[in-house]
Amino acid sequence: MIGRINSIQTLGTVDGPGVRFVLFMQGCPLRCGYCHNPDTWDFAGGYEVSSEEILEKVLRYREYFGKDGGITVSGGEPTMQVDFVRELFALCKGEGIHTALDTSGCIWNEKIEKLLELTDLCLLDYKMCNPEDYEKYTRCKKESVDFFLGELQRRNIDTWLRQVIVKGINDSAESVRMLYDVADAHPCVKKVELLKFRKLCAPKYENLGIEFPFGNLPETKAEDISAIMSAIGKA
Ligand code: SF4
Repeated sequence: MIGRINSIQTLGTVDGPGVRFVLFMQGCPLRCGYCHNPDTWDFAGGYEVSSEEILEKVLRYREYFGKDGGITVSGGEPTMQVDFVRELFALCKGEGIHTALDTSGCIWNEKIEKLLELTDLCLLDYKMCNPEDYEKYTRCKKESVDFFLGELQRRNIDTWLRQVIVKGINDSAESVRMLYDVADAHPCVKKVELLKFRKLCAPKYENLGIEFPFGNLPETKAEDISAIMSAIGKA
């Protein structure tokens, strides 16, 4: 099957456990204010590849995966090309390769249910804890993500909750505590990751001629995250 992808990172270490082959799919219906990959938004962008071609590449890196690594399919929003991702995951599972899906969790349909049968780990981008902010800054409804998380729990799929922390938006102790409360209410959640808001992507916005919505906000520093963790007693 043919899919449209943006790019490949062969030895990724930040998108799931171990060393991973990270595939960035092309196309995303959301518009997160901090998005690092605006070049993935356009569904007509990127380039076409077959699932077999990707498997062949993945297998070349297999020796680096060790016991924890594998493939992560990210984006863009990978569930927008669910048929392709499902076929790719089936091929990878056939080779005993660990599969991780990095998704916004904003979309749900029967095909995604089938995809989850082949998903070992879900990296769920739980972008905001305030429902109004969720819609305002991402164009996705928080209730959709809560539903998706409920489905992950129902299937007992290992999940990592990830949230990009942006000063003045979702960096209050109250907000982050709410995120941990969500994690605590779902035993399938094995890890919470607070990610720093970075602006390395600013040139991408310039090249695309589109506004970087959070371009005027400060980057988040490691000490900002540490301070929040201390404030909620998780340091
Ligand atoms: S879901 Fe991901 S790719 Fe899509 S706009 Fe948000 S951060 Fe960007």
